[in-house]
Amino acid sequence: MAKPGDTKFGGDLFERIKSLWNSWWNSGDPGQNKPFKFLLIVSAVLMLIAFAPILIWVLPLFLGVALASMLVRGSGGFPQGILSFGKSRGRVYAEQEIGIRFKDVAGIDEAKEELIEIVEFLKTPEKFTSLGGKIPKGVLLVGQPGTGKTLLARAVAGESGVPFFSITGSDFVEMFVGVGAARVRDLFEQAKSNAPCIVFIDELDALGKARGISPVAGHDEREQTLNQLLSEMDGFDVNKGIIVMAATNRPEILDPALLRPGRFDRHVAIDLPDIRGREKILEIHTATVKLGPDVNLGRLAAMTPGFAGADLANLVNEAALLAARRNRTEVGASEFEDAIDRIVGGLEKKNRVMSRREKSMVAYHEAGHAVVALNVPRADPVSKITIIPRGIGLGHTRQLPTEDRCLMTREELWDRLCVLLGGRVAEELALGEISTGAANDLQQATDMVRSMITRYGMSEKLGLAAYGREGPPPVPGEMHGRSLEYSEETAKSIDLEISQTLANAYRRVKQILYREREHLEIVAQALLEKETLSGEELKALLGKSAPKAA
Ligand code: ADP
Ligand code: MG
Ligand code: ZN
Repeated sequence: MAKPGDTKFGGDLFERIKSLWNSWWNSGDPGQNKPFKFLLIVSAVLMLIAFAPILIWVLPLFLGVALASMLVRGSGGFPQGILSFGKSRGRVYAEQEIGIRFKDVAGIDEAKEELIEIVEFLKTPEKFTSLGGKIPKGVLLVGQPGTGKTLLARAVAGESGVPFFSITGSDFVEMFVGVGAARVRDLFEQAKSNAPCIVFIDELDALGKARGISPVAGHDEREQTLNQLLSEMDGFDVNKGIIVMAATNRPEILDPALLRPGRFDRHVAIDLPDIRGREKILEIHTATVKLGPDVNLGRLAAMTPGFAGADLANLVNEAALLAARRNRTEVGASEFEDAIDRIVGGLEKKNRVMSRREKSMVAYHEAGHAVVALNVPRADPVSKITIIPRGIGLGHTRQLPTEDRCLMTREELWDRLCVLLGGRVAEELALGEISTGAANDLQQATDMVRSMITRYGMSEKLGLAAYGREGPPPVPGEMHGRSLEYSEETAKSIDLEISQTLANAYRRVKQILYREREHLEIVAQALLEKETLSGEELKALLGKSAPKAA
């Protein structure tokens, strides 16, 4: 609202200046003052001309200082203060802001199970500490992009109702030396005064890359930040209730110091969801979408092997957008199918979606491992088989116990070797084709046989001598890391013995799988349909004849 006295810009302003001027010029005694005023004006103009060169230099300086102080203080339209040195970008979320619960995360039940303990601890720390129990300080969530790592960390905070400090590893990588380290210090200070709470570092690999492997020289800054993080993690008492969670999709490049006990020593693997998991994830994301009667989520799940949770969320969204573009009132099956085609096109470039043929190859391969494991006397029982890609492998057959035991007999090693070869042999028997899928198995098998021969004295031909010595891994770049402590002839006979042992094992596996080809077929078909089988399901599938499934 313009008050009567207000000036409008333009003519009005000019009028006012003119009237001010007149009142000043005409004030006082006109006869005496006018020459004096005239002199005043002349000298002011002369001064301006004389000082102009200085003003040209000084004015920008003033402006610059004013602008910088504005940025540092974070006022004047810059919400965070671009130059807020050392202030953590970790934002504090109060409980009510994190509305995510475990029920919003589906398809990764094993990871959820592992985190329930953390939630319990954050809720009632006394229950654990009074017994002298120790809670892990650092939990590292490992999984491919889009599998729900960030979502799960937020769900842990949501479930336990504690403050959640979240930062991204790449936030730390700053231009100014020392800023990252100061941020880490600040973050943990805030966390300590807010305990119990969760500190979540997303994309830990951006910060915690192993020192020395970066091709770019001069990464002092990241190193300093990492060191600060390491010492902060050592420096707080877990029982105060701070839990540091981190997420990464490349655990192999992390600095080993980060993974030592007392730091991120608890690893939670987050796998791509299997067909049942995908159906549940679709249920969550379609809860607010108007679905047509022809949409069958189970069928959609079957059509999307290799999709991560984020891909499925994206699928639902794409389908809804398509339906809107086609002026539908509901999202129908045809929209979903078109959206799948569109997304698969993008994903195939990233090599994550399996074709039908690949899927059946992997199914027979994994069924081969499982069937051999069930038919040799000393193999560990099979607890899970899946054809969902995971890490470098395409499928996965898990036997319990998975840890290496201290002692293994020759017979156990021999059975283990056969299980390793089961995948390759099954491909060959069932499909008459072999694939590159066995590369990792063959590597493991060869390493094992070599150790049996050269270190454990388990070969009759080569006897008890230990050939070569276990030592630090060869320095990369050095031509011969291993100093040869045996003759060329011995080397030859070791090679020969390795290939003969492998050939013997191969023959045995072929016999087993040929005899059990019906079971192989049953397991492979079940895998194609369900993608994942538990130990019990396997047992049920094969009836009493498979006593070793656990
Ligand atoms: P990551 O951190 O592993 O890359 P995010 O947690 O950021 O993946 O997931 C991105 C989005 O994908 C989530 O916000 C969620 O909508 C969806 N999503 C991913 N995984 C799941 C899951 N297991 N259950 C439900 N939604 C999921
Ligand atoms: Mg994430
Ligand atoms: Zn295999």
